[in-house]
Amino acid sequence: MIPLVDLKAQYHSIKAEIDAAVLATLESGHFILGPAVTKFEDSVAAYLGVKHAIGLASGTDALVIALRALNVGAGDEVIIPAYTFFATAGTVMSVGAKPVFVDIDPESYQIDASKIEVAITSKTRAIIPVHLYGHPADMNPILEIARKHNLKVIEDNAQAFGAEYQGKKTGSFGEVACLSFFPTKNLGAFGDAGMVVTEDDALAERMRMLRTHGWKKKYYSEEVGYNSRLDAMQAAILQAKLPHVDTWNEKRREISQRYNEKLKALNVVTPIEKDWAKHVYHLYILRSSRRDELQAFLKQKGIASEVYYPLPPHLSEPCRKLGYKEGDFPHAELAARETFALPLYPELTSAQQDKICAVLKEFLALSK
Ligand SMILES: *Cc1c(COP(=O)(O)O)cnc(C)c1O
Repeated sequence: MIPLVDLKAQYHSIKAEIDAAVLATLESGHFILGPAVTKFEDSVAAYLGVKHAIGLASGTDALVIALRALNVGAGDEVIIPAYTFFATAGTVMSVGAKPVFVDIDPESYQIDASKIEVAITSKTRAIIPVHLYGHPADMNPILEIARKHNLKVIEDNAQAFGAEYQGKKTGSFGEVACLSFFPTKNLGAFGDAGMVVTEDDALAERMRMLRTHGWKKKYYSEEVGYNSRLDAMQAAILQAKLPHVDTWNEKRREISQRYNEKLKALNVVTPIEKDWAKHVYHLYILRSSRRDELQAFLKQKGIASEVYYPLPPHLSEPCRKLGYKEGDFPHAELAARETFALPLYPELTSAQQDKICAVLKEFLALSK
């Protein structure tokens, strides 16, 4: 079976470095926050070119803490893309606000910035562009709309570590950006981990407080916060991986280019990269009107594939209760029916890739 991702292959490619980082953590006696976490926070801030980085327990917590720090809550609306991982919508709801969806651009799968303004009301407080699949959202029009309407921008950068918009790293555009180091992300921990980054000193302080029960001074809670601390083991592992992430992203880009070349003559839609974008291919997404049959055929031939995401968030139970229904966001709904991801990870070999492409060719030739 060719898997969708192979986390063990990546571990083995840098095993000595990871093992040393883990053992050093065990010896340090420091397991939650502490020097390893501070070092990793500084490294990510430098990598993205931002002032503050705050390590958290997950990318989902990063979204919650960013929203809370920006005082988004009951009665407020937050604009998000109609096609994304549920956490983008769920976190907005969990702070008491309402997610207001905007359909995607069907070519790039990113929020369609030209449809944002009509979704703005007097209750809108923020926009969360998601850099879905590792391709940046079109940030300039989004930032311009946000400035015009006095809205905050929270980037959901969970899938796009290392991506660039007009030569500048995603995660460095919004008031806050949220990162996830879930194991399968482009920079992945060996457990859950996340981060918020910002240029703003006051926001950074507030998010640090929210991370530990609203404390500025230990045990003196000034507001209700969370326990959402990054642990030292994950920070040490991520620190060891960080110097490799550009090479890995380059490999993802090469493999994706090779897929594009090999599949271009077939009746299947390959991903695009806008001319202002540096795509880091968190996922390699194909589109086909015969997706389900194609996936079954791949499976039968020993090739994994996966649908991200079968259910657009507006059609989830919690969002249906807000009044959203089928037909509201046609491009997102069609993407949910027609798109799927092929195996993609930096260690995927050319031979594996050739096999995947041969099987796709076999099916698509048969189906004509
Ligand atoms: C992974 C992901 C998250 C959540 O991150 P976790 O670390 O899994 O909590 C949020 N948004 C998007 C787009 C994601 O892909």
